[in-house]
Amino acid sequence: MGEIGTLYIDGAWSTSSTGETLVIRDPSSQDPVGEVSAAGRDDTRSAIRAAANAFPAWAARSGAERAPFLLRVRDLLLEHRDGLAATITAEMGKPLREAWGEVGGAAGMFEYYAEEGKRVGGTIVPSYVTNRRSHAIRQPVGVVAAITPWNFPLATVAKKLAPALAAGCTVLLKPAEATPTIAVRLFELFERAGLPAGVANLVTGLPSAIGEEILSNADVRLITFTGSTRTGKHLMKGAADTMKRIALELGGHAPFIVFEDAVIDDAVQAAYTAKFRNAGQVCVNTNRLFVHESIADDFVAALKELVESKVVGPGADDATDIGPLVNEAALHKALEHIEDARTLGAQVVTGGHQLSGGRFEGGYYCAPTILRGAKKPMRIMSEETFGPVLPVTTFTTDDEAIALANDSSYGLAAYVFTQDARRCFVIPERLAYGSIRVNNDTGDGIHAPFGGVKESGIGLEGGPWGLDTFLVTKSVSYQI
Ligand code: NAP
Repeated sequence: MGEIGTLYIDGAWSTSSTGETLVIRDPSSQDPVGEVSAAGRDDTRSAIRAAANAFPAWAARSGAERAPFLLRVRDLLLEHRDGLAATITAEMGKPLREAWGEVGGAAGMFEYYAEEGKRVGGTIVPSYVTNRRSHAIRQPVGVVAAITPWNFPLATVAKKLAPALAAGCTVLLKPAEATPTIAVRLFELFERAGLPAGVANLVTGLPSAIGEEILSNADVRLITFTGSTRTGKHLMKGAADTMKRIALELGGHAPFIVFEDAVIDDAVQAAYTAKFRNAGQVCVNTNRLFVHESIADDFVAALKELVESKVVGPGADDATDIGPLVNEAALHKALEHIEDARTLGAQVVTGGHQLSGGRFEGGYYCAPTILRGAKKPMRIMSEETFGPVLPVTTFTTDDEAIALANDSSYGLAAYVFTQDARRCFVIPERLAYGSIRVNNDTGDGIHAPFGGVKESGIGLEGGPWGLDTFLVTKSVSYQI
């Protein structure tokens, strides 16, 4: 083992000033797969100082001058795709082919923002005063602290760092403590791609010391965070003292609505993907399936058959469709939601228990589960499960489906399956969600906006919107 010296500050690798380290474990076995330095507050302060010192020169470059670095990162990600995917799977358990897809997605983000960064311009504002001219100019916000989760440990980092660097910001990254090694690999590629010292800095470790320094340090001008709503609220409150900007991509509780006129085979396939991808550990995964009562029995029978045909096992096995959960707490939460729903009257259609023994020994496996008869106040109907458990509820009218779907404090993603053109337009307008997928389970790519409403977040990632997050608009007027 011995992955120490994993802090990347001002263009150099170092160990933590506290001497502390973290051991990383494979969730399919609990075997150690790496070790990283655990940064202290002093290390975090050094990283912020390095980013602040590097900011003027990086910001002064044009978008076109910054683009070649981003494109080199894209090339290196694709060149090392297999090894990077294996690192993701070892740290957080997702099937290798999903991890491979994630690396490709991350490469695409560096490519997209290399191009989009060239298009940051301003506006000529018509002046109200004779002999005066007015411009609105857009400039990088300054030092950015990026804090990311473990469920897409490379994609969520790329989604923040690619636009931040393209916009001319300098950054400090704090990756999740379960998945720091993939961030270390990315920074090794940054170094090979010619990253100037201080432009991007990495602090692996625990959130307490790193988070407190990020919040209190006035040099950090923006926190871009993806993670739970609970942590998002903490960061939002803490950012107030130094009036930092914040961009928050938080938790979700996606409804998946199947109307009686849907193409059932497509909806069943999509419901499987929208729930069980990444073992249910995706912010946009559905947490509530609403099916029209006239098709519910057939729909649930077909979904049960599909789910039972899938292979659960270690992500590193080629045959695996659904891997383990990330840790013991995640497994317990899924099992608690099942037990609570069962106690309150839900019926288990399939699954409903932990998988242990044999190939599951030592891993955090929950059997893919479908529950029928789900309703409030079952916890699963309001709390994010973040596991492979799908509660099913029936409805009879469109108004009832909308009311059930909108009955959530979250507002991230929603899914609608129907062949009725009127419903395709009107239902999304009535859903209080930021990302609505009609007759598809994935949404669109990095060029489309993505973000939540209500307690699912503030701000947007993707497309030109994702670049705007990292820019401030300044007004300049000229007397001539
Ligand atoms: P989390 O516990 O909030 O952690 C996310 C990140 O914040 C990690 O790096 C974590 O560090 C760090 N963190 C925790 N407490 C902190 C503090 N006090 N100060 C500074 N940093 C702190 O969330 P998670 O369990 O890792 O991720 C799952 C959640 O993310 C789910 O709710 C999911 O829906 C959401 N998510 C949202 C999106 C989206 O785009 N909307 C995408 C993916 C995931 P440690 O890992 O060291 O604790």
